[in-house]
Amino acid sequence: MHSNDGRGGGMGSDGDVDALAQLVADAEGVSDAARVVQIREVRVLAAAGVLAESQSAGASERVKAREMALRGIAAELAGVFVATDRTLQRRIDEARDLVDNFPVTTAAWEDGRIVRGHVRVIQEIGCIVPADDREDFERAAIERCEGETPNRVRGSLQMLAERMHPRCFTERHEEAAAGRCVQVRTGADGMSDLIATLPTVIADGIVDRLTRQTREIINARAKADAADAEGLGDSTHDGGSSFIGDARTIDQVRADVFSDLLLAGSPALDPTATGDGDGTLGAIRAHVQVAVSALTLMGQDEGPADLAGRSPIDATTARQLAGDATSWDRLLTHPVTGSVLECDTYRPTAAMVRLLRARDRHCRFPGCRQPAIRCELDHTIAASDGGATHVRNLANLCKRHHDVKHHTRWRVRQLPGGRLIWTSPTGRVYREDAPPPLVAFAAAPAWPPQREGDMPAVPPF
Ligand SMILES: [Zn+2]
Repeated sequence: MHSNDGRGGGMGSDGDVDALAQLVADAEGVSDAARVVQIREVRVLAAAGVLAESQSAGASERVKAREMALRGIAAELAGVFVATDRTLQRRIDEARDLVDNFPVTTAAWEDGRIVRGHVRVIQEIGCIVPADDREDFERAAIERCEGETPNRVRGSLQMLAERMHPRCFTERHEEAAAGRCVQVRTGADGMSDLIATLPTVIADGIVDRLTRQTREIINARAKADAADAEGLGDSTHDGGSSFIGDARTIDQVRADVFSDLLLAGSPALDPTATGDGDGTLGAIRAHVQVAVSALTLMGQDEGPADLAGRSPIDATTARQLAGDATSWDRLLTHPVTGSVLECDTYRPTAAMVRLLRARDRHCRFPGCRQPAIRCELDHTIAASDGGATHVRNLANLCKRHHDVKHHTRWRVRQLPGGRLIWTSPTGRVYREDAPPPLVAFAAAPAWPPQREGDMPAVPPF
């Protein structure tokens, strides 16, 4: 007979059981409290969406007015939640979708029958179910969710939604294919993931072609190696010379071929092509913004360079870019003074554009990280109000936040040093200091060789 004497750390004594029961009761209390707060948050966010709608009611360009109202409100709430306004806008949309289109699910969540993870899965999968069948879907889905973890119930809900789906796969695929896109996710150690979301046949086709081309390269390398081994000392034989020292793996070759094709190849369908010549699309070259210190360029410093607004890149790559073709936009920053150029013409000069990209690095709206290279130069005080085209009156804003500044009640002032003071429609104030240089280090003792006129001393802009 099994004896329960509590030895070996088992759940033996009554005291242990009581302590655990207390812990479980506490956990239940926390979980209930969290649910109440989460639901309150969803309701607040949904209300923000409704408010944006009511603010834009009656406007002539209704869609645009609603979008601008929503952006303004999202930016205001972003300050409270300490997130970006884009994130807030997405959460507002999600909250409205949940409250408006999944009322049964929201109620089940409020009653504690399901948890937030379930709600997310139901909302995500249920969006393909037509509105008329939505309630049936919700009820069935909630039943399956109860007592099961969100991840384990996902497959079953997908089947349920598929069955209620009125349209064939082809139609849906066409719709899904409209969401094709390419994204970059910055990773660690100067690496990034390039993610292309494509129809499966295209994606498979790309990998297949890459793999075939890669095999050709690897086979040719093997042949050349074999020929080299046979023709030892034969100076007339040069078959393997291009492969000397090439020990790349198949994955590495595939990645290299992929990069070569995309950076140097021409698109197959080129609307600018004439009858017998290539068009201009193939001549468009990649453009990236790199801030690299003079010391790094000279090989005296191995500190990383700054791929503006994104991530550090290694010194060797930065040096190659700087020494390479003109298709790379070179931006050199002096480690000590930096060089300043001011000009008061109507249009910012190319030098001012570069200077402001170096100063701002990214969009200067609170919280935004859009690289300056994809931003527009905004006159802090509009030119029409007498604002000068001057680095002290210019700042990089991405398209989105340029619109927010012009079409909502967000206001901005610029102080010396490129400091921006933003005031939201409700009067919350955000200080946006010019970002500190990312390429920063102590100057080497012998650097820079100071000579008259080399590096003019200039006031901070
Ligand atoms: Zn922005």
